[in-house]
Amino acid sequence: MAELVHHGQRVDAIDPLAREVGVSDRLHCRQSGTSGAATTLTGVTHDLAERLDRARAATRAAGIDALLVSPGPDLAYLTGYDAKALERLTCLVLPAEGDIRLVAPGLEKAAALASPVADLDIEIVTWQERDDPYALTASLVPGASRLALDNHMWAEKVLALRHAMPAAEQSLANRVIAQLRMRKSEVEVGHLRDAGAAIDRVHRRMGEWLRPGRSEREVARDIGAAIIAEGHTQVDFIIVGSGPNGASPHHDVSDRVIETGDAVVVDIGGTNAAGYCSDCTRNYVAGAAPDSEYVEYFEVLAQAQAAQRAHSRPGVTAASVDVVGRDIIAAAGFGEAFLHRTGHGIGLETHEEPYIIAGNDLVLETGMAFSIEPGIYLEGRHGARIEDIVVITDDASEVLNTTAREYALLV
Ligand code: ZN
Ligand code: ZN
Repeated sequence: MAELVHHGQRVDAIDPLAREVGVSDRLHCRQSGTSGAATTLTGVTHDLAERLDRARAATRAAGIDALLVSPGPDLAYLTGYDAKALERLTCLVLPAEGDIRLVAPGLEKAAALASPVADLDIEIVTWQERDDPYALTASLVPGASRLALDNHMWAEKVLALRHAMPAAEQSLANRVIAQLRMRKSEVEVGHLRDAGAAIDRVHRRMGEWLRPGRSEREVARDIGAAIIAEGHTQVDFIIVGSGPNGASPHHDVSDRVIETGDAVVVDIGGTNAAGYCSDCTRNYVAGAAPDSEYVEYFEVLAQAQAAQRAHSRPGVTAASVDVVGRDIIAAAGFGEAFLHRTGHGIGLETHEEPYIIAGNDLVLETGMAFSIEPGIYLEGRHGARIEDIVVITDDASEVLNTTAREYALLV
């Protein structure tokens, strides 16, 4: 995903494409199981009890009285329950001490029971239509003075919880949960590897669709169908930036018709059945050779991205990965054209911690997965970005995207 693309903008922009390929929304597509109500990700049903234990230990260590986690990636990570995000409150109540409960609407009880929650040491506490679920939640954490709420909780729920527990200080649960989520287990790395291989298969087929005379939107429609066909259950985003549109990192698609000689940035990703995301950018040139300046800076970009991959290993900081590539690009005179940070973590979300950016002194550890995606953008003309997902191993890093990084001339 392009670094300047805000998550919300991205989803809004790509929804029409997703619908065109028969993909309505993440929840719908990620449902599985036989009851029709079950919302279980196939990839997060292992070691859930251990995750809950670690979350509780981290909660205690942070001096937090309870974590409150509403439907979203944090709840899926901790419980395997990919619950619907609705106006009715569903909320995991994970106290530093005492029983773990899931507050759920009565009509969602079957879905919760069909999820891994049923096999965990979690009591499901249901509420009926005329009950106050916020007062119910407050009653489960009597005397709590420090609550941590998941970062994606809807504002109306945050404010209702504040109203129900006015004496409790609210903070973001990310400081606890992100620490867990960014260190992937081997099983999680396997799911990311599968997602990477699936998106690589789509890039390998680009010559079927991308050529002069077709619009970015037409090409994107074909890419969307292939993202599903090659092993995802959901299209997350499709960027086809041709010619001058490639110089805008947050371009999605447009009706611009690709011209002979255009450089085209294609940045695509989806979510697989296990709930893990892919994200890979490759560059194509349509019909005829690109101009000499593109050839010049593409070489610089490729060197920078290769240096960043080689540098990624345990013990170096996230910031240093950014610096290694940025210095190469700046030394070649294109520093001003590298508009964004180097990358983002990836897992159950396309963008999550760790962020590969100047100032982030986080020391990389085994199991951390993130994108390396430097770009060079010449406004009004063209641009290029090379993006791979890498996972830190015990002594180096594994690159999950393996297609050629050189731009491909499609004729
Ligand atoms: Zn990307
Ligand atoms: Zn990305």
